[in-house]
Amino acid sequence: MSSDVVVIGAGISGYAAALRLRRAGATVTLVTKGMGGLALSPGTVDVLGRLGGAAGPAGPGAGTTAEERSARRAITRPYAAIAAADLLPEGHPYRVIGRRATAAGVDRFAALVGSELLTARPDAVEDAGAGDAGAGSGGSAAPAGDGPANLWLPTAVGAIRPTLLVQPSMQASVLRDGGHYLVVGLARLKDFTADMAAGNLNRSTLPDGGRVRARALTVDFVARGGESDTNAVGHARALDGAEGIDRLARLLDGRVRDGETVLLPAVLGLDRPGVFRELAERLGAPVGEIPLVPPSVPGLRLEHRLDRLASAERVRMVMGARVVSTRVERGRLVSVTTAAAGRPREHRAAAFILAAGGFESGALAMDSHGRVTDTVLGLPLAGVTADGAENLRRLVHRDYWGAPQGLFRVGVAVDAGMRPLGPDGAAALAGVHAVGGVLAGAVRWSEKSGEGIALGSAQAAVDAVLADLGCPPAHTAAAEADAATSRAAGPGESKEQD
Ligand SMILES: Cc1cc2nc3c(=O)[nH]c(=O)nc-3n(C[C@H](O)[C@H](O)[C@H](O)COP(=O)(O)OP(=O)(O)OC[C@H]3O[C@@H](n4cnc5c(N)ncnc54)[C@H](O)[C@@H]3O)c2cc1C
Repeated sequence: MSSDVVVIGAGISGYAAALRLRRAGATVTLVTKGMGGLALSPGTVDVLGRLGGAAGPAGPGAGTTAEERSARRAITRPYAAIAAADLLPEGHPYRVIGRRATAAGVDRFAALVGSELLTARPDAVEDAGAGDAGAGSGGSAAPAGDGPANLWLPTAVGAIRPTLLVQPSMQASVLRDGGHYLVVGLARLKDFTADMAAGNLNRSTLPDGGRVRARALTVDFVARGGESDTNAVGHARALDGAEGIDRLARLLDGRVRDGETVLLPAVLGLDRPGVFRELAERLGAPVGEIPLVPPSVPGLRLEHRLDRLASAERVRMVMGARVVSTRVERGRLVSVTTAAAGRPREHRAAAFILAAGGFESGALAMDSHGRVTDTVLGLPLAGVTADGAENLRRLVHRDYWGAPQGLFRVGVAVDAGMRPLGPDGAAALAGVHAVGGVLAGAVRWSEKSGEGIALGSAQAAVDAVLADLGCPPAHTAAAEADAATSRAAGPGESKEQD
């Protein structure tokens, strides 16, 4: 099987790259052994929220010692921080991706999924089309000045975390100085305790020094008859229907005080993202969602949207397909072979995008001897040595709440076109571009940089691939418009289970 481009991995970076390539007219096969990290994610877009300090619990100033707390720097304007490269640690992926590609990738992604699923500013909910900011830029826009500011969202335990883009259902959850919040727990949803979340919010200070007031209320909403313990997805399905919304509204009727914003765990509908609005109308008060631990309903909303877009755009999806071997000819990757149920299948392409994630997805692995490898393409990794014992000594420590594990920064080093580099700084394998979680140099979950790195690197990689395929990025806006016209004219989708 042959395509212009094979994308390996179905996380945010793989989908973003595959969809943009299709819109530019390339044929794309996306092979993946399973789902990506979106279903685990809060369904927001984190670009850069913190730098330095301990890897401990989220929230401004969090850390285990006074020294660590002061070393941990909250980032207010992520694009300005990316542009000021000296803030970033040596080898950080943003140093090569840069502000322009990051902003273009993030804007493009927001336009792709639509303002119904992602918005940038608290006032964007009522501002139709505001989520499309940057659409039509042809990938060339960079935000003016310092760019948009991070928003501060509560976590499920009432800590505070920075993010850049939120779902409209979270706009009311963006914490503001002097805000009064009613935190509502659902007795049968064990992943969220309103008392704990409200208590911690009352103790927290916003990065600008602001404070909030929160009180807790728990109601017994029955998501599925006969169940005393229903997960977030079960609750969300119950709230996809008018009957569920009506029952929840009745439980809250008369319980919300004047001036309060109602915060609920993020279960306000899986398929109907407007459930929060209906509830707000019933209660006469703003309603916001607080993202939960996995499985994350807001993350699944994004995942479902991307999956539907990939079908509509005729990305050839090959699911359940793990890359098990590669064919390299004269220093260039020409095919990868996937296997499922013992059936090998070769996928040839002019270019390959490695979007297989990091240690969390198994794309990178450390064995018991301390040997660290890229399990997909076998690319050289930055930040490790061939001596496993030394890797174990240098890269892993047992102080979980202390400094980030050195291992987390291990990954593939790349040039500005996301081409993998060897230890000598020379190109490691032609025909390959690496994006997202596989890149070296970031501790994505503590920095809150995972989605920004994924989208910025996908943007830079696709620019390079399109240039190599003879379709310069400057021409892609027109090509994308043509592709959209021909898509509108023709049916078709392709999805396979290997
Ligand atoms: C629990 C958790 C919490 C996190 N919290 C945050 C946070 O709060 N903020 C933040 O910014 N970031 C966070 N991150 C990081 C963020 O989720 C990642 O940076 C992001 O998911 C990376 O996306 P990706 O597309 O590169 O890879 P992934 O989403 O990991 O997708 C990788 C894809 O590659 C596929 N794959 C892997 N190996 C193969 C193979 N051999 N063959 C075929 N396919 C393969 C996988 O099946 C998967 O589909 C968190 C990560 C985890 C795990």
